[in-house]
Amino acid sequence: MRSDSLTLTARYVFPVEGDPIPNGWISVIDGAVSRVGRSNGVRPDFDLGNVAIVPGFVNAHTHLDLTPIEPVADRADGTEDEIAWLKRVVSMRRATMPDQSRAAVIRNISSSLSYGTTSIADITPGGLSWNDVADSPLRGIVFAEILGLRRMRGLETTQHAWDWIASLGLNEGDPPLRLRPGLSPHAPYSTAPWLFERSGAGKLPLSTHFAEMPEERQLLQNRSGPLREFLEEIGAWDPEWEPAGPSPVDYLRLSALRDSDWLIAHGTYFHPDEFWSLRPSASGSESDRRIAVAYCPRTHARFGQAPHPYRALLERGVIVCLGTDGLASSPTLSILDEARFLHRRDRSLSGKLLLTMATLFGAWAMRIDDIVGSIAPRKRADFAIVALPNEENADPYSLLFDHEGPVVGTMSDGQFVSGPWRNS
Ligand SMILES: [Zn+2]
Repeated sequence: MRSDSLTLTARYVFPVEGDPIPNGWISVIDGAVSRVGRSNGVRPDFDLGNVAIVPGFVNAHTHLDLTPIEPVADRADGTEDEIAWLKRVVSMRRATMPDQSRAAVIRNISSSLSYGTTSIADITPGGLSWNDVADSPLRGIVFAEILGLRRMRGLETTQHAWDWIASLGLNEGDPPLRLRPGLSPHAPYSTAPWLFERSGAGKLPLSTHFAEMPEERQLLQNRSGPLREFLEEIGAWDPEWEPAGPSPVDYLRLSALRDSDWLIAHGTYFHPDEFWSLRPSASGSESDRRIAVAYCPRTHARFGQAPHPYRALLERGVIVCLGTDGLASSPTLSILDEARFLHRRDRSLSGKLLLTMATLFGAWAMRIDDIVGSIAPRKRADFAIVALPNEENADPYSLLFDHEGPVVGTMSDGQFVSGPWRNS
């Protein structure tokens, strides 16, 4: 075996762009896929056995610095009040020391890799996860969180974010980075419109939490309701605050943001027609901006919100990808767990579409779909290797999503970065 090349076989290869390949074969040269197809009987360097090789999962929304907050178990309907949960997150963040956040980031990077995630969209205050993610095999975007209705708080967080961007020493015309910086104005209910506008100044990718709960629209429309009480309680309310408009979507229409890429977390209370109105041609823009929704099925279910409109959004041509959100709301950082959870709740979503949401759509949202997100010649060899059950099924996607076989290995750029083959 030449050190810059290797060959793999597996019971199934799921290329995503194309049908599952039984008895699949992948050749890798210099960290990129050179051939994918059926095994021709030649002995491979690694016969991985009864597994599926799928593209490395893309986690389109997470917060690597967060740690678990156990659900409140005494609610009869099994759902948790999201604003009460937000209060617990704020107290936890205020009590967390920087070295504890850093330790959580390191732990969560390692667990993400063990779950087969190879690309990530991570949001942390001041981009604090950047160095550790950059030192890891992960690729994607680290967004610095920007927050504040009050002017001083807004200035503080935006300065912190821009200082971090400046410290990276990036220049226009630099070759594409494995990891890019972005900005994340937290949410319309927590972040003043001028901070959203300023986020558009650097032409960086943007991410935000939008339309996550009905109380947000109530706040934007009437400046009242449970979110206002919450903001007053934590000392974040500004009596002079004016929203950008009565709907969260008004923030995406701010002129400074017209050409920006947006990765929108949740979007539960967005009407698909509102998204439709954001396409570049509807706003008279020539840009090729990309707006995608990151749906986090288990976090969404935790709070018992209205059904997520992912199906209606997909039918209107919106790219919906999958995220785990942070461990404060999600039991694991596994995109496969999110996909299986969604599959159990919605049997009508095809396995092919589900796997695409877990891989290629997230890559599209981060503008890395030309190099990852599917298994195809010339793309980087980023794979998750998933154990399959000892049974036959006419639908190979059922082997992947109807069973609980774990991710047993992860490959990034043609190197095993997790699993038993790592040092072979
Ligand atoms: Zn989030």
